[in-house]
Amino acid sequence: MGDSTRLIGITGGIGMGKTTVSDYLAIAHHLPVLDADLIARDAVEPGSPILSKIVDRYGSNLLRLDGTLDRSKLGAIVFSNPTERTWLEQQIHPYVRQTLVIECDHLSKNHSTIVLVIPLLFEANMTDLVTEIWVIFCPESQQLQRLMQREKLSLEQAQARIQSQMPIQQKRDRADFVLDNSTTLEALMQQVDRALSLTS
Ligand code: ATP
Repeated sequence: MGDSTRLIGITGGIGMGKTTVSDYLAIAHHLPVLDADLIARDAVEPGSPILSKIVDRYGSNLLRLDGTLDRSKLGAIVFSNPTERTWLEQQIHPYVRQTLVIECDHLSKNHSTIVLVIPLLFEANMTDLVTEIWVIFCPESQQLQRLMQREKLSLEQAQARIQSQMPIQQKRDRADFVLDNSTTLEALMQQVDRALSLTS
């Protein structure tokens, strides 16, 4: 990979607008986007070594009839138990990191800017994979509302997921660019345009 490739790492709290921003960067600015969540899903596809380890640990009742992982059952285990969450992350994060490195290397042959959406950029110590960090944030009340609506989670479940992550203020402190998603989509996109133009 050339030293000059611009690698934008997008992060923020759950449901604060990462995908909204990366979709916009892909559609309006034609930038390639790598999504750590999608890679993490690939990591546990049927037949994968990581899925076998998960089944060994928690039993085959975590599998659906078609052999795919029942993510909500796994979520119920790991979001209420930090030890299990750590174990699961130790299985998945190395795969995500390795895949991001390989895909960035590949994309950098044809693109001078690449977007990486990494929800756990700080928690999983992946900041070395990017050349700049954008943190998207909105107030927690708005985050809770978006999360409960979209994922059909109870207030307690939504709060448990939020609390499993690093507090948003700590993420903001470590950002190169902070994007405020507390108002309209239009206002958000204006900030994205500005962040993109700043160092390019
Ligand atoms: P996750 O962490 O779960 O992947 P995310 O950070 O990618 O979430 P999005 O999926 O982009 O967040 O946004 C969460 C929800 O909030 C989506 O349904 C999105 O359409 C909505 N949303 C995001 N920003 C705004 C906004 N400014 N105004 C209204 N709705 C918004």
